[in-house]
Amino acid sequence: MVSGQLTSSIQKHASERKYNFCSGPALLPLAILEQAQVDMLSYKGSGIGIMELSHRSALFTGLIEEARSRILNLLGLDSDFEVIFFQGGATLQFSALPLNFIDDNGFGAYIVNGHWSKKAFQLASQVRSAKIIWEPTTTNSEKVPTETKIALDKGAAFLHYTSNETIDGIEFHQEIVSSDAPVICDASSNILTRPIDPDNFDLIYASAQKNLGPSGLTVSIIRKSFLDKCRGTDIPLLDYRAMAQNHSLLNTPNTWAIYLVNSVCKWIEDQGGVEKMHALARQRSEMIYEVIDNSDGFYQNRIPEESRSRVNVVFHLPTKELEEAFLGEAEKQGFYGLAGHRSVGGIRASMYNPFPPEGAQKLSEFMKDFAAEFADF
Ligand code: PMP
Repeated sequence: MVSGQLTSSIQKHASERKYNFCSGPALLPLAILEQAQVDMLSYKGSGIGIMELSHRSALFTGLIEEARSRILNLLGLDSDFEVIFFQGGATLQFSALPLNFIDDNGFGAYIVNGHWSKKAFQLASQVRSAKIIWEPTTTNSEKVPTETKIALDKGAAFLHYTSNETIDGIEFHQEIVSSDAPVICDASSNILTRPIDPDNFDLIYASAQKNLGPSGLTVSIIRKSFLDKCRGTDIPLLDYRAMAQNHSLLNTPNTWAIYLVNSVCKWIEDQGGVEKMHALARQRSEMIYEVIDNSDGFYQNRIPEESRSRVNVVFHLPTKELEEAFLGEAEKQGFYGLAGHRSVGGIRASMYNPFPPEGAQKLSEFMKDFAAEFADF
């Protein structure tokens, strides 16, 4: 038996935890972190810690199957779909998807309405033909297409869109469909935050580090009939067919992240499933938007109401100086990670599935107090 000196200061560290508004990696439920400490030492009484467990062991293959079926169940998807765990983040999927699904005569059709959909389009263009089929114009304020049924030219291998633009704070509140090509959705920042209609998706992918667990893992859920259209690539770890055939165990996967994703999915089930996550996402974001909308322009969110994000609430204050003061004071009061992305500045409150509503409540109160103090400056 291996033993060593253990120090137990868990309680102290738990009480130091702040309201973490980071865009990802993001806050995880305390109960999961506590259980993870135990499982790190000995998983399911095996005497082997979860991070030390072989990915070929029965315990781990059981775990990965459990994670797979929880994801499908939570999304309301059946055996028509396959779940694949990739490494390399959603960013690697920006290259993998065109390599797997666009042939020499075809093109990927991209809706580009923010930072990440632009990146997806740019990386696709580096390896295959890709076209922007919708983007916001300067002449009207729409941030997502008003028409959700999209017609595509012949040769479109897929339609790609980003259901929530994490940096820009833009979310599709209606699903996009096309009868001309399969639909791929980057749902990195809003997967499992609301129910979906399975008919409207052929592939959904998401980095884990926002709504599902830690970084270093990407979950891709693909309709099997779309997988049949995969042309494959020469790079095995990017090859959808090879990864599916090998149950995501072509090489050593991120076992730790898969363990945590399974735990988060179980936690979501215990909370009341995706319907409950949807209600919480609305509750949290509405608390912040309400303060913004009632602040007489002190706080400004420039996204039309119908496409405001429920998970990344972005806003500006009248001056850069006030934004800096806001961030400084917020940090002193125990709010962490509120600075907007470096490319856009301002403030961003990211609140994903595990984020507690009282954090949003506390931030809304802080915002009111701050506006009351500084609105006339
Ligand atoms: N897509 C979206 C919507 C994102 O928010 C992010 C990351 N924040 C990415 C893609 C890229 O993910 P990763 O850093 O895991 O590659």
